[in-house]
Amino acid sequence: MTALPDFAAIEAMDAADALRPLRDRFILPPDLIYLDGNSLGVASTAAFAELRRAAEEEWGQDLIRSWNTAGWFDMPLDLGDRVGRLVGAAAGQTVVCDTTSINIYKALHAAMALRPDRSVIVTEGSSFPTDIYMAEGVVSTRPGASLRLEGVDAPAIEALIDGDVAVVLVNHVNYKTGELRDMAALTRKAHDNGALVIWDLCHTAGALPVDLDGASVDFAVGCTYKYLNGGPGSPAFIYAAARHHGGIRQPLTGWWGHARPFAFETRYAAGDGIRRFLCGTQPILSLRALKGALDIWDEVDMTALREKSLRLTDLFITLVEEKCAGHGLELESPRDPARRGSQVSFRHPNSYEIMQALIARGVIGDFRAPSTMRFGFTPLYVGYADVWRAVEILEDILRTGTWRDARFAVRAAVT
Ligand SMILES: *Cc1c(COP(=O)(O)O)cnc(C)c1O
Repeated sequence: MTALPDFAAIEAMDAADALRPLRDRFILPPDLIYLDGNSLGVASTAAFAELRRAAEEEWGQDLIRSWNTAGWFDMPLDLGDRVGRLVGAAAGQTVVCDTTSINIYKALHAAMALRPDRSVIVTEGSSFPTDIYMAEGVVSTRPGASLRLEGVDAPAIEALIDGDVAVVLVNHVNYKTGELRDMAALTRKAHDNGALVIWDLCHTAGALPVDLDGASVDFAVGCTYKYLNGGPGSPAFIYAAARHHGGIRQPLTGWWGHARPFAFETRYAAGDGIRRFLCGTQPILSLRALKGALDIWDEVDMTALREKSLRLTDLFITLVEEKCAGHGLELESPRDPARRGSQVSFRHPNSYEIMQALIARGVIGDFRAPSTMRFGFTPLYVGYADVWRAVEILEDILRTGTWRDARFAVRAAVT
Protein backbone atom coordinates (compact mmCIF):
# COMPACT_ATOMS: atom_id res chain seq x y z
CA MET A 1 0.00 0.00 0.00
CA THR A 2 1.55 3.31 -1.03
CA ALA A 3 -0.95 6.19 -0.80
CA LEU A 4 -2.39 6.73 2.67
CA PRO A 5 -6.15 6.04 2.55
CA ASP A 6 -8.66 8.39 4.18
CA PHE A 7 -11.56 7.22 6.34
CA ALA A 8 -14.00 7.24 3.40
CA ALA A 9 -11.71 4.82 1.55
CA ILE A 10 -11.59 2.63 4.66
CA GLU A 11 -15.39 2.54 4.89
CA ALA A 12 -15.56 1.60 1.22
CA MET A 13 -13.17 -1.30 1.88
CA ASP A 14 -15.47 -2.58 4.65
CA ALA A 15 -18.54 -2.18 2.43
CA ALA A 16 -16.89 -4.22 -0.34
CA ASP A 17 -15.62 -6.95 2.02
CA ALA A 18 -17.24 -10.31 1.20
CA LEU A 19 -16.38 -11.65 4.69
CA ARG A 20 -18.01 -8.69 6.43
CA PRO A 21 -21.43 -10.37 7.06
CA LEU A 22 -19.73 -13.12 9.12
CA ARG A 23 -18.95 -10.59 11.84
CA ASP A 24 -22.62 -10.67 12.90
CA ARG A 25 -22.26 -14.31 14.01
CA PHE A 26 -19.84 -13.26 16.74
CA ILE A 27 -20.61 -11.82 20.15
CA LEU A 28 -18.44 -8.72 20.15
CA PRO A 29 -18.95 -6.25 22.98
CA PRO A 30 -19.92 -2.86 21.49
CA ASP A 31 -17.13 -0.31 21.03
CA LEU A 32 -14.43 -2.91 21.58
CA ILE A 33 -11.69 -3.24 18.98
CA TYR A 34 -10.49 -6.78 19.48
CA LEU A 35 -7.02 -7.42 18.10
CA ASP A 36 -6.24 -10.45 20.25
CA GLY A 37 -7.95 -13.29 18.38
CA ASN A 38 -4.48 -14.81 18.05
CA SER A 39 -4.59 -15.42 21.81
CA LEU A 40 -8.27 -16.03 22.52
CA GLY A 41 -10.83 -16.01 19.71
CA VAL A 42 -14.21 -14.31 20.09
CA ALA A 43 -17.36 -16.20 21.15
CA SER A 44 -20.05 -16.93 18.58
CA THR A 45 -23.80 -17.50 18.81
CA ALA A 46 -23.26 -20.97 17.29
CA ALA A 47 -20.73 -21.92 20.00
CA PHE A 48 -23.07 -20.75 22.76
CA ALA A 49 -26.01 -22.64 21.21
CA GLU A 50 -24.03 -25.90 21.18
CA LEU A 51 -22.78 -25.30 24.70
CA ARG A 52 -26.31 -24.66 25.96
CA ARG A 53 -27.71 -27.75 24.23
CA ALA A 54 -24.90 -29.96 25.52
CA ALA A 55 -25.33 -28.68 29.07
CA GLU A 56 -29.10 -28.39 29.38
CA GLU A 57 -30.42 -31.22 27.20
CA GLU A 58 -27.61 -33.75 26.99
CA TRP A 59 -25.91 -33.51 30.36
CA GLY A 60 -29.04 -32.13 32.08
CA GLN A 61 -31.60 -34.59 30.74
CA ASP A 62 -30.03 -37.50 28.89
CA LEU A 63 -27.05 -37.85 31.20
CA ILE A 64 -24.81 -40.84 30.53
CA ARG A 65 -26.92 -41.97 27.56
CA SER A 66 -25.47 -38.98 25.67
CA TRP A 67 -22.16 -40.76 25.13
CA ASN A 68 -24.03 -42.80 22.53
CA THR A 69 -27.09 -40.72 21.65
CA ALA A 70 -25.37 -37.34 21.29
CA GLY A 71 -22.17 -38.58 19.65
CA TRP A 72 -19.98 -37.61 22.59
CA PHE A 73 -17.72 -40.63 22.22
CA ASP A 74 -16.68 -39.97 18.62
CA MET A 75 -16.49 -36.19 18.93
CA PRO A 76 -12.65 -35.99 19.12
CA LEU A 77 -12.43 -37.79 15.75
CA ASP A 78 -15.38 -36.01 14.13
CA LEU A 79 -14.05 -32.60 15.09
CA GLY A 80 -10.55 -33.72 14.14
CA ASP A 81 -11.69 -34.26 10.56
CA ARG A 82 -13.34 -30.84 10.52
CA VAL A 83 -10.18 -29.12 11.78
CA GLY A 84 -8.18 -31.29 9.38
CA ARG A 85 -10.05 -29.82 6.40
CA LEU A 86 -8.81 -26.36 7.43
CA VAL A 87 -5.17 -27.43 7.51
CA GLY A 88 -5.05 -29.59 4.39
CA ALA A 89 -5.44 -32.98 6.07
CA ALA A 90 -7.54 -35.72 4.48
CA ALA A 91 -9.96 -37.46 6.88
CA GLY A 92 -8.74 -39.89 9.51
CA GLN A 93 -5.45 -38.15 10.30
CA THR A 94 -6.46 -35.51 12.86
CA VAL A 95 -7.95 -35.82 16.34
CA VAL A 96 -9.02 -33.08 18.77
CA CYS A 97 -7.84 -33.76 22.31
CA ASP A 98 -5.77 -32.59 25.26
CA THR A 99 -3.61 -29.47 25.02
CA THR A 100 -1.04 -28.43 22.45
CA SER A 101 1.69 -28.98 25.05
CA ILE A 102 0.55 -32.56 25.71
CA ASN A 103 0.17 -33.24 21.99
CA ILE A 104 3.74 -32.00 21.40
CA TYR A 105 4.91 -34.51 24.00
CA LYS A 106 3.04 -37.35 22.29
CA ALA A 107 4.20 -36.36 18.80
CA LEU A 108 7.85 -35.98 19.84
CA HIS A 109 7.92 -39.41 21.47
CA ALA A 110 6.13 -40.96 18.49
CA ALA A 111 8.62 -39.40 16.08
CA MET A 112 11.63 -40.48 18.16
CA ALA A 113 10.27 -44.02 18.25
CA LEU A 114 10.01 -43.99 14.44
CA ARG A 115 13.74 -43.06 14.23
CA PRO A 116 15.22 -45.38 16.89
CA ASP A 117 18.80 -45.02 15.61
CA ARG A 118 18.76 -41.22 16.02
CA SER A 119 18.84 -39.13 19.18
CA VAL A 120 18.53 -35.42 18.38
CA ILE A 121 15.52 -33.11 18.50
CA VAL A 122 15.88 -29.78 16.67
CA THR A 123 13.70 -26.83 17.53
CA GLU A 124 13.79 -23.03 17.64
CA GLY A 125 15.23 -20.94 20.46
CA SER A 126 12.59 -18.34 19.57
CA SER A 127 9.79 -20.92 19.67
CA PHE A 128 6.74 -20.48 21.84
CA PRO A 129 8.37 -21.65 25.08
CA THR A 130 6.12 -24.62 25.80
CA ASP A 131 7.45 -26.35 22.66
CA ILE A 132 11.02 -26.12 24.02
CA TYR A 133 9.94 -27.07 27.54
CA MET A 134 8.14 -30.18 26.30
CA ALA A 135 11.14 -31.13 24.16
CA GLU A 136 13.32 -30.79 27.27
CA GLY A 137 10.91 -33.10 29.08
CA VAL A 138 11.08 -35.68 26.30
CA VAL A 139 14.91 -35.53 26.24
CA SER A 140 14.98 -36.05 30.02
CA THR A 141 13.09 -39.36 29.67
CA ARG A 142 15.13 -40.77 26.75
CA PRO A 143 18.73 -41.70 27.63
CA GLY A 144 21.18 -40.36 25.03
CA ALA A 145 18.69 -37.91 23.54
CA SER A 146 19.64 -34.26 23.09
CA LEU A 147 18.22 -30.95 21.93
CA ARG A 148 19.60 -28.49 19.36
CA LEU A 149 18.20 -24.97 19.29
CA GLU A 150 18.10 -22.56 16.40
CA GLY A 151 19.51 -19.21 17.52
CA VAL A 152 21.59 -20.93 20.22
CA ASP A 153 23.48 -23.76 18.50
CA ALA A 154 23.39 -22.16 15.01
CA PRO A 155 21.74 -19.07 13.54
CA ALA A 156 19.58 -20.97 11.01
CA ILE A 157 17.62 -24.16 11.68
CA GLU A 158 18.73 -25.72 8.39
CA ALA A 159 22.33 -25.88 9.65
CA LEU A 160 21.22 -28.06 12.59
CA ILE A 161 19.57 -30.77 10.50
CA ASP A 162 21.85 -33.71 9.78
CA GLY A 163 21.86 -37.52 9.92
CA ASP A 164 21.64 -37.58 13.76
CA VAL A 165 18.36 -35.71 13.86
CA ALA A 166 15.23 -37.73 14.56
CA VAL A 167 12.74 -34.89 14.48
CA VAL A 168 12.43 -31.17 13.80
CA LEU A 169 9.76 -29.36 15.83
CA VAL A 170 8.91 -25.99 14.39
CA ASN A 171 6.32 -23.21 14.65
CA HIS A 172 4.61 -22.37 11.37
CA VAL A 173 4.14 -18.75 12.47
CA ASN A 174 6.28 -17.32 15.25
CA TYR A 175 4.08 -16.24 18.16
CA LYS A 176 6.05 -13.07 18.83
CA THR A 177 7.11 -11.73 15.44
CA GLY A 178 4.38 -13.24 13.28
CA GLU A 179 6.99 -14.59 10.85
CA LEU A 180 5.70 -17.40 8.60
CA ARG A 181 8.00 -20.30 7.74
CA ASP A 182 8.06 -22.13 4.40
CA MET A 183 6.44 -25.43 5.39
CA ALA A 184 7.16 -27.33 2.18
CA ALA A 185 10.83 -26.31 1.99
CA LEU A 186 11.71 -27.08 5.62
CA THR A 187 9.82 -30.37 5.54
CA ARG A 188 11.79 -31.34 2.42
CA LYS A 189 15.06 -30.37 4.12
CA ALA A 190 14.22 -32.60 7.11
CA HIS A 191 13.16 -35.51 4.91
CA ASP A 192 16.30 -35.20 2.74
CA ASN A 193 18.25 -35.81 5.97
CA GLY A 194 16.06 -38.70 7.04
CA ALA A 195 14.39 -36.71 9.84
CA LEU A 196 10.69 -36.26 10.61
CA VAL A 197 8.90 -32.92 11.19
CA ILE A 198 6.28 -31.71 13.62
CA TRP A 199 4.63 -28.40 12.71
CA ASP A 200 3.03 -26.32 15.46
CA LEU A 201 0.04 -24.64 13.80
CA CYS A 202 -1.21 -22.60 16.78
CA HIS A 203 -0.90 -19.37 14.81
CA THR A 204 -1.95 -20.70 11.42
CA ALA A 205 -4.99 -22.96 11.91
CA GLY A 206 -7.86 -20.65 10.92
CA ALA A 207 -5.46 -17.83 10.04
CA LEU A 208 -4.22 -18.83 6.59
CA PRO A 209 -4.29 -21.77 4.16
CA VAL A 210 -2.20 -24.76 5.29
CA ASP A 211 -1.52 -27.90 3.23
CA LEU A 212 -0.22 -30.63 5.55
CA ASP A 213 -0.83 -33.50 3.13
CA GLY A 214 0.51 -31.51 0.18
CA ALA A 215 3.76 -30.73 2.02
CA SER A 216 4.14 -34.38 3.18
CA VAL A 217 4.26 -33.28 6.81
CA ASP A 218 4.69 -36.09 9.35
CA PHE A 219 3.00 -34.62 12.43
CA ALA A 220 1.27 -31.38 13.36
CA VAL A 221 -0.30 -29.93 16.49
CA GLY A 222 -2.24 -26.76 17.20
CA CYS A 223 -4.75 -25.11 19.42
CA THR A 224 -8.39 -24.31 18.76
CA TYR A 225 -8.94 -21.38 21.13
CA LYS A 226 -7.03 -18.85 18.99
CA TYR A 227 -8.11 -18.35 15.35
CA LEU A 228 -10.64 -21.21 15.51
CA ASN A 229 -12.60 -19.49 18.32
CA GLY A 230 -13.28 -22.67 20.34
CA GLY A 231 -13.31 -20.88 23.70
CA PRO A 232 -10.85 -20.59 26.62
CA GLY A 233 -8.91 -23.82 27.00
CA SER A 234 -10.76 -25.65 24.21
CA PRO A 235 -8.95 -28.89 23.33
CA ALA A 236 -6.05 -28.88 20.89
CA PHE A 237 -5.53 -31.08 17.82
CA ILE A 238 -2.89 -33.49 16.63
CA TYR A 239 -2.28 -34.70 13.07
CA ALA A 240 -0.25 -37.72 12.01
CA ALA A 241 0.17 -38.64 8.33
CA ALA A 242 -1.61 -41.89 7.51
CA ARG A 243 1.65 -43.46 6.28
CA HIS A 244 2.93 -43.48 9.87
CA HIS A 245 -0.18 -44.84 11.59
CA GLY A 246 0.83 -48.48 11.72
CA GLY A 247 4.17 -47.75 13.41
CA ILE A 248 3.14 -45.06 15.87
CA ARG A 249 3.75 -45.56 19.57
CA GLN A 250 2.91 -42.69 21.88
CA PRO A 251 3.65 -42.81 25.60
CA LEU A 252 0.30 -41.69 27.08
CA THR A 253 -1.36 -45.06 26.60
CA GLY A 254 -4.70 -44.34 28.24
CA TRP A 255 -7.89 -46.26 27.71
CA TRP A 256 -9.36 -43.85 25.14
CA GLY A 257 -6.55 -44.77 22.75
CA HIS A 258 -7.09 -48.49 23.28
CA ALA A 259 -8.36 -50.63 20.40
CA ARG A 260 -11.30 -51.81 22.55
CA PRO A 261 -11.82 -49.39 25.46
CA PHE A 262 -15.04 -51.03 26.61
CA ALA A 263 -13.60 -54.53 26.61
CA PHE A 264 -11.69 -53.44 29.73
CA GLU A 265 -8.77 -55.70 28.87
CA THR A 266 -5.82 -56.11 31.20
CA ARG A 267 -3.17 -55.01 28.70
CA TYR A 268 -2.92 -52.02 26.38
CA ALA A 269 -3.45 -52.48 22.65
CA ALA A 270 -3.21 -49.34 20.50
CA GLY A 271 -6.35 -48.35 18.61
CA ASP A 272 -6.43 -47.99 14.85
CA GLY A 273 -5.12 -44.91 13.12
CA ILE A 274 -5.20 -41.49 14.70
CA ARG A 275 -7.40 -42.77 17.56
CA ARG A 276 -4.28 -44.05 19.31
CA PHE A 277 -3.33 -40.46 20.15
CA LEU A 278 -6.25 -40.25 22.56
CA CYS A 279 -5.50 -40.77 26.24
CA GLY A 280 -8.44 -40.21 28.61
CA THR A 281 -11.93 -38.73 28.83
CA GLN A 282 -12.19 -35.42 27.02
CA PRO A 283 -13.92 -32.16 28.13
CA ILE A 284 -17.23 -32.63 26.32
CA LEU A 285 -18.61 -29.15 27.04
CA SER A 286 -15.48 -27.54 25.59
CA LEU A 287 -15.64 -29.86 22.59
CA ARG A 288 -19.25 -28.85 22.01
CA ALA A 289 -18.41 -25.14 22.08
CA LEU A 290 -15.70 -25.90 19.53
CA LYS A 291 -18.18 -27.83 17.40
CA GLY A 292 -20.38 -24.73 17.20
CA ALA A 293 -17.38 -22.49 16.53
CA LEU A 294 -16.30 -24.66 13.60
CA ASP A 295 -19.64 -24.31 11.75
CA ILE A 296 -18.72 -20.95 10.26
CA TRP A 297 -15.66 -22.38 8.53
CA ASP A 298 -17.84 -24.33 6.09
CA GLU A 299 -18.61 -20.95 4.50
CA VAL A 300 -15.10 -19.52 4.47
CA ASP A 301 -12.83 -19.59 1.46
CA MET A 302 -9.30 -19.71 2.92
CA THR A 303 -7.80 -17.85 -0.03
CA ALA A 304 -10.22 -14.95 0.51
CA LEU A 305 -9.47 -15.10 4.24
CA ARG A 306 -5.73 -14.83 3.58
CA GLU A 307 -6.22 -11.91 1.18
CA LYS A 308 -8.23 -9.98 3.75
CA SER A 309 -5.77 -10.84 6.52
CA LEU A 310 -2.88 -9.40 4.53
CA ARG A 311 -4.89 -6.31 3.63
CA LEU A 312 -5.62 -5.75 7.33
CA THR A 313 -2.02 -6.21 8.42
CA ASP A 314 -0.65 -4.11 5.51
CA LEU A 315 -3.07 -1.33 6.41
CA PHE A 316 -2.09 -1.45 10.08
CA ILE A 317 1.64 -1.27 9.31
CA THR A 318 1.14 1.60 6.85
CA LEU A 319 -1.04 3.63 9.21
CA VAL A 320 1.13 3.08 12.31
CA GLU A 321 4.34 3.97 10.48
CA GLU A 322 2.73 7.07 9.00
CA LYS A 323 0.71 8.39 11.95
CA CYS A 324 2.87 7.26 14.87
CA ALA A 325 6.25 8.16 13.36
CA GLY A 326 8.76 9.62 15.81
CA HIS A 327 7.41 7.79 18.87
CA GLY A 328 9.99 5.00 18.90
CA LEU A 329 7.90 2.13 17.52
CA GLU A 330 9.87 -0.44 15.57
CA LEU A 331 8.20 -3.01 13.30
CA GLU A 332 9.05 -6.54 14.46
CA SER A 333 6.97 -8.45 11.90
CA PRO A 334 8.10 -9.17 8.33
CA ARG A 335 7.32 -6.37 5.90
CA ASP A 336 7.07 -8.94 3.11
CA PRO A 337 3.44 -10.20 3.21
CA ALA A 338 4.48 -13.64 1.95
CA ARG A 339 6.46 -14.12 5.18
CA ARG A 340 3.83 -12.72 7.56
CA GLY A 341 1.12 -14.54 9.52
CA SER A 342 -2.06 -12.77 10.62
CA GLN A 343 -0.52 -10.52 13.27
CA VAL A 344 1.65 -7.44 13.50
CA SER A 345 4.15 -6.79 16.29
CA PHE A 346 5.89 -3.59 17.20
CA ARG A 347 8.76 -3.16 19.62
CA HIS A 348 8.96 -0.26 22.07
CA PRO A 349 10.77 0.05 25.42
CA ASN A 350 7.40 0.81 27.09
CA SER A 351 5.26 -1.71 25.23
CA TYR A 352 3.66 -3.00 28.42
CA GLU A 353 2.42 0.42 29.55
CA ILE A 354 1.31 1.45 26.06
CA MET A 355 -0.67 -1.78 25.66
CA GLN A 356 -2.34 -1.26 29.04
CA ALA A 357 -3.31 2.26 27.98
CA LEU A 358 -4.73 0.88 24.71
CA ILE A 359 -6.75 -1.75 26.57
CA ALA A 360 -8.14 0.97 28.87
CA ARG A 361 -9.35 2.75 25.70
CA GLY A 362 -11.03 -0.40 24.31
CA VAL A 363 -8.30 -1.57 21.91
CA ILE A 364 -7.28 -5.05 22.96
CA GLY A 365 -3.97 -6.51 21.90
CA ASP A 366 -1.34 -8.06 24.12
CA PHE A 367 2.21 -7.76 25.39
CA ARG A 368 4.98 -10.32 25.07
CA ALA A 369 8.13 -9.88 27.14
CA PRO A 370 10.48 -8.16 26.95
CA SER A 371 9.20 -5.38 24.67
CA THR A 372 6.65 -6.57 22.11
CA MET A 373 3.17 -5.20 21.43
CA ARG A 374 1.18 -7.81 19.53
CA PHE A 375 -1.88 -7.12 17.40
CA GLY A 376 -3.81 -10.05 15.91
CA PHE A 377 -6.05 -9.58 12.88
CA THR A 378 -8.82 -12.13 12.53
CA PRO A 379 -10.56 -11.57 9.20
CA LEU A 380 -13.85 -13.15 10.31
CA TYR A 381 -14.67 -10.31 12.69
CA VAL A 382 -12.09 -7.52 12.34
CA GLY A 383 -12.78 -4.80 9.77
CA TYR A 384 -10.76 -2.04 8.16
CA ALA A 385 -12.43 0.68 10.26
CA ASP A 386 -11.28 -1.19 13.38
CA VAL A 387 -7.72 -0.89 12.13
CA TRP A 388 -8.17 2.81 11.45
CA ARG A 389 -9.63 3.52 14.90
CA ALA A 390 -7.03 1.43 16.69
CA VAL A 391 -4.24 3.46 15.09
CA GLU A 392 -5.99 6.76 15.92
CA ILE A 393 -6.15 5.73 19.59
CA LEU A 394 -2.56 4.47 19.58
CA GLU A 395 -1.39 7.78 18.09
CA ASP A 396 -3.31 9.71 20.74
CA ILE A 397 -1.80 7.65 23.58
CA LEU A 398 1.72 8.14 22.22
CA ARG A 399 1.34 11.86 21.46
CA THR A 400 -0.27 12.77 24.79
CA GLY A 401 1.90 10.38 26.81
CA THR A 402 -1.11 9.10 28.78
CA TRP A 403 0.58 5.68 28.94
CA ARG A 404 2.93 7.19 31.56
CA ASP A 405 0.13 7.06 34.17
CA ALA A 406 1.41 4.85 37.02
CA ARG A 407 -1.59 2.51 36.86
CA PHE A 408 -0.50 1.25 33.41
CA ALA A 409 2.81 -0.02 34.82
CA VAL A 410 1.17 -2.49 37.22
CA ARG A 411 1.91 -6.00 35.93
CA ALA A 412 -0.88 -8.59 35.85
CA ALA A 413 -0.26 -12.38 35.89
CA VAL A 414 -1.40 -12.78 32.28
CA THR A 415 -0.02 -10.20 29.87
C1 LIG B 1 -0.59 -20.76 22.15
C2 LIG B 1 0.49 -21.70 21.80
C3 LIG B 1 0.65 -22.91 22.49
C4 LIG B 1 -0.25 -23.19 23.67
O1 LIG B 1 -0.10 -24.44 24.23
P1 LIG B 1 -1.17 -24.95 25.30
O2 LIG B 1 -0.70 -26.27 25.67
O3 LIG B 1 -2.50 -24.91 24.62
O4 LIG B 1 -1.19 -23.98 26.44
C5 LIG B 1 1.62 -23.78 22.06
N1 LIG B 1 2.43 -23.49 21.00
C6 LIG B 1 2.30 -22.32 20.34
C7 LIG B 1 3.19 -22.02 19.18
C8 LIG B 1 1.35 -21.39 20.73
O5 LIG B 1 1.24 -20.23 20.09
